[in-house]
Amino acid sequence: MQPNDVITLLFVLQALIAFAMGGVALGLAGRRLHMGRRLLAGSFFALGLYFVASLLSTWLATLGPQWALTRSALSWLSQVGGFAHLALLMLALYSMALRRGVSRKVFLWVMGISVVAALLIVLPGSSDLSEARTRYGFRVGGRSAITALGYGLIAAFMARYKPLAGRSLGQLLVMSSFGVLFLFNALTASAVFHPGLLGSAPGTSAWLQLGSLIGLLLLAIALLVWLQERTLALAEAKTLNAERMAHFDEATGLVNRHGLLRRLDRDVTPASALTIMTLRLHRFALMERTLGSTWVQEALQRLGEAMVAGRDYHLLVLARIDSDRLAVALAADGSLADGEVLSRRREVERVALSLGHPVALSFGYAVRGQRESAGTILASACLAQEKAEAGGLRMLRFEPEQALSDADEVKIVGALYRAIGEDQLFLEYQGIFNTHTGALDCVEALVRWRHPTEGVMPPGRFLPAAERGGLMADIDIWVLTRVCQTLRDRKDAGEPAVPVAINLSAASLLDGGLPSVVESQLRRNGVDPHLLEIEVTESAAMNDLSKASAVVNALRELGVRVALDDLGTGYSSLVHLRDLRADRLKIDRSFLAEGDRFGNAIAAAIGALGRSLGCDVVGEGVETEAQLAFCKAHHIGFVQGWLLHRPAERWPQPPAARARMPADSAPPV
Ligand code: C2E
Ligand code: MG
Ligand code: MG
Repeated sequence: MQPNDVITLLFVLQALIAFAMGGVALGLAGRRLHMGRRLLAGSFFALGLYFVASLLSTWLATLGPQWALTRSALSWLSQVGGFAHLALLMLALYSMALRRGVSRKVFLWVMGISVVAALLIVLPGSSDLSEARTRYGFRVGGRSAITALGYGLIAAFMARYKPLAGRSLGQLLVMSSFGVLFLFNALTASAVFHPGLLGSAPGTSAWLQLGSLIGLLLLAIALLVWLQERTLALAEAKTLNAERMAHFDEATGLVNRHGLLRRLDRDVTPASALTIMTLRLHRFALMERTLGSTWVQEALQRLGEAMVAGRDYHLLVLARIDSDRLAVALAADGSLADGEVLSRRREVERVALSLGHPVALSFGYAVRGQRESAGTILASACLAQEKAEAGGLRMLRFEPEQALSDADEVKIVGALYRAIGEDQLFLEYQGIFNTHTGALDCVEALVRWRHPTEGVMPPGRFLPAAERGGLMADIDIWVLTRVCQTLRDRKDAGEPAVPVAINLSAASLLDGGLPSVVESQLRRNGVDPHLLEIEVTESAAMNDLSKASAVVNALRELGVRVALDDLGTGYSSLVHLRDLRADRLKIDRSFLAEGDRFGNAIAAAIGALGRSLGCDVVGEGVETEAQLAFCKAHHIGFVQGWLLHRPAERWPQPPAARARMPADSAPPV
C-alpha cells in the first residue's frame, strides 16, 4: 500500500470516528438536549465534514486543473469544518465544565469567525495554479498550527479546571488526548514549515495522520468516560439533594422530624439515655400573617439557638419538627434530664423576651424509661407539650401513667364512634312540669350508651371523651334525628303533642351548618318546629358568643325554642342572657340544694329575672317536696327532677306527676 493510500484510509477512519462521536454525543444529550452535549455533537459532525471534504478535495486534485475552483471550494468547506470543530469543542467544554449556557449570539460569532478564518486560509495561492507550495503551507501548515494551538488551549483549560468533587479519571483522559492531538498537529505544522525536519513527505504525513487518528480515538474514549462520570455524578447529586430536602428544613437549616429520628436511630443505641424536649410557638400562623414569614423563621431560629446555647455536652440534635415546633434531643435521663430541660427552658424564655414582640411558648419533654424508640419519645414529648398548652402550663413532663389513661380515652372514642353507627346509643326522657298545674310541659332527651361490656353508661362517663375526640357533633346529630323520628311516630300514633328538648354541645352550637340540618330533619319527619327545644349552656356559647348567637337566632327563626341550660354555672354573664335571648332559663340544680341560703337566693333572683325578661324558668334537680314548694313560691314556673319523674326510656305520664303537686301555700326550702 502506498503512503497516500494509507493517508486516505486514515482520513476515512477519522471521518467515521468523528461522525460516530457526533451521534453518540447527540444520543447522550437525551431528550432535553443539554447544550454542552449538543455543541459536542456539532463539533464532531464538523470534524467529520472536515475529513470528508478534505478527501474529496484530494481526490479532485487527481482529476486535473479544470477542477481547481471546485477543489478550492471543497478545501474551504473542509477548513470551515476544521475550525468549526475546534470552536464548537471549546464552547462545548466551557458549557459542560462550568455548567453555563452559550447564547445564540456567541454561537453565531464563533461560526462566523470559523468561516472567515477558513477563507483566509484557503485564499492565498488559490488563483494561481503554480502556487502549490503557498497553498500547502496555508491549508495544511497554517491549519495544523491553528488546530494545535486550539487543542493546546483546551488541554491547558482541562488541566486547570478543578471541579468541586475533584479531578476525575475521565477528565485526565480528555486532557491527555487533547495533548496527543496538540502534539501531532504541532508536528504536522512543523513538517510543513520545515520539510526536512521529519523525513520524506508522504511517509511522514502517514505517520502524523496515524498519530491524529490515535489521538482522536483516545479523545472519543476519554470523552465517553468523562460524560459517563458526569452523568453519574449528576444523578448522585440529585439523590443527595432529594435526601437533603427530605431531612432538612429549608427555612432554618435545621434537620426536620425525619432527620431527627434518623440521626437518633443512627447515633443513639436503644439502651442509652435519651430525653427529647419540644417547644411550640403559639399562634404561629397569626404571627406569620401579621409579622411576616421572615420574622417568625428568625424567631424560631433564635429560640432554637437558645435551646442549645452553651450546653453542647448533652446535646444530640436540634430539629424543627413542625412549622411551629422545635425539638432538642439530649443524652440525659433521671434528674439530670429535669435540670437540663429546665435550664434550657429558662434560656429560651429569656431570649423570647428580646424578640421584639411578645410570644407565647409551651414546652413538653419525655425521658426514655425502658428502651422506647426515639419516635415514641418524640411523640410523648409532643403530647406533654400539648397537655401543658391545653392546661395553661408552661411545661410538662410526660408521665407514662397518664399515657395509659390517655390510651383508654382513645379507645373509648374509637368504641363510641362505632357505637353511633351501631345504634348502641339510646335516649331516656325526663319530664319538665308546670309547677302550678303539674301538667307535662316538655320532655328532655338525655343520651345513654349501652356499652357491650360495661353496661349502660351515663353521659358524664363518655361525653367528655367524645368532646375531646371531636365526636360531639355526631352525637348531637344522632340525638336530633332520633328525637324527630320519635315525634313523628307519636304524631302518627295519635299521642298528644309534647315538645322535646335536646342538649347541644359547644361544637354544634358553633357550627353554622346546624340550622339547615335541623330544618331538614324537621321537614323530613313532618315535625312542627315549636315541638323542638334546644338547650345550650353558657360555657358552650362562651367560646364565640357572636357565632353562637347567630346559630341560635337562625334556629329561633325556624320556630325552634331555645333554653339556657345549667344557668348560673360555668362563666355566667348577663351578656349571654341578653344575646342568646332564650325562651327558657334552666336554673342549675346546685342552686336548689336544700339549706344553701345563697344558692337559693340566686335561684329566687333568676325566677324574678325570668319573669321580667318574659322567659319561662325551670328549676332543675328537684328531688324533694320542699324544693318543689320553693320553686312554686318563687315564680319558678316549671320543674324537672327525680321527685316528679326520673329519666326513662318510656315517655312520662302527666297525671302521675300532677298527683304529687303540693298545695300553693308550701313554704320556701
Ligand atoms: P343536663 O342537660 O342539665 O341534664 C340534666 C341532668 O340532670 C341529667 O343527667 C339528669 O338525669 C339529671 N337529673 C335530673 N333530675 C335530677 C335530680 O332530681 N337529681 C339529680 N341528681 N340529677 C337529676 P344526665 O342524663 O346524666 O346528663 C348530664 C348532662 O349530660 C346533661 O345535663 C347534659 O349537659 C349532658 N347530656 C345529656 N344528654 C345529652 C345529649 O344528648 N347531648 C348533649 N350534647 N349533652 C347531653
Ligand atoms: Mg339539659
Ligand atoms: Mg341542666
